[in-house]
Amino acid sequence: MPHRASALVVALSLLAAVPAGAAAPADPSPYATLAAIEARVAAIGFRLTTANAALCPVQQPQFGWIWGDPRLYDADRRAEALAVYGAATRDAPFVAAIAPSSPAAAVGLRVGAAVTGIQGSAVPDGADAHPFARITAIETWLATMPPTAPLALDAGDVGPLTLTPVAGCVSDFRVEASEKAGAVADGRMVLVNQGLAQFAADDDELAAAIAHELAHNVLRHRARLDAAGVDRGLGKQFGRSARLFKQTEIEADRLSVWLLAGAGYDPAAAARFWTRFGQRKGRPLIQAGTHPPWRDRVASLEAEAALIAAARTAGQPLRPPLIDAPPPLE
Ligand SMILES: [Zn+2]
Repeated sequence: MPHRASALVVALSLLAAVPAGAAAPADPSPYATLAAIEARVAAIGFRLTTANAALCPVQQPQFGWIWGDPRLYDADRRAEALAVYGAATRDAPFVAAIAPSSPAAAVGLRVGAAVTGIQGSAVPDGADAHPFARITAIETWLATMPPTAPLALDAGDVGPLTLTPVAGCVSDFRVEASEKAGAVADGRMVLVNQGLAQFAADDDELAAAIAHELAHNVLRHRARLDAAGVDRGLGKQFGRSARLFKQTEIEADRLSVWLLAGAGYDPAAAARFWTRFGQRKGRPLIQAGTHPPWRDRVASLEAEAALIAAARTAGQPLRPPLIDAPPPLE
């Protein structure tokens, strides 16, 4: 017993020597970091798409969620990842993030809830073995539905729910667990790399990066570039293909500032973000053919922000460029 008592005294004196709050917290699970970024992207994506809905020539229902799927994780880390979301380990897609004040939040859906049925049908399984195939199938199906029609969801232990979506611009959102500071828009989806979200200084800057990708989708750049027959391979860096890619980058930059303003973000955040992005260490030079020099991009972003400020000062409505009549890609 004396031995245990003296051990206790040693333990207490050690505790007393450590000031309150100085204990180093355990590193969060990498999946917790990813889930926190998904929550930010869900909130920003919902706000950008719905606040700007009236501008968008094509709309889709927006629910304010990002989907998760056990199939996204390697088998040996799957349980750890799903525990972060509070998701069951069975093979069902689940809700990975919910935007505040969104239809998903309003109806009491929770992060981690498994979704087994939509509109009385089993959740579609996806056409191929790609880890995101099932999520893509779900999102593609939902995007074809009327933008404000109620949706019946079988949400596992949360129970059956009916959500009424908000009309928004075309786009679903996804976060990729990649360190590379990049993002992609394919016409229906915006994919943000974890590295890009971590590079953004704050939510306004992250919104600027996301608004750029959203602008690509609103302006249908992927489909229009394909229709123009651009080379997506090595030839992308040269000649006509490079010129057309560059045109779409300039257009996405210009519209992005107005999308930020329309959603109540700081329009000046675009110039801030792309200045830091243009000056970042280790940036690839390979984009030189398809993207304007970063100083030109920032000058264009500042010019749009100045137009927005002038319209606001004059009490005029914001009229974004390009949406009604984008110049042809030829
Ligand atoms: Zn772009």
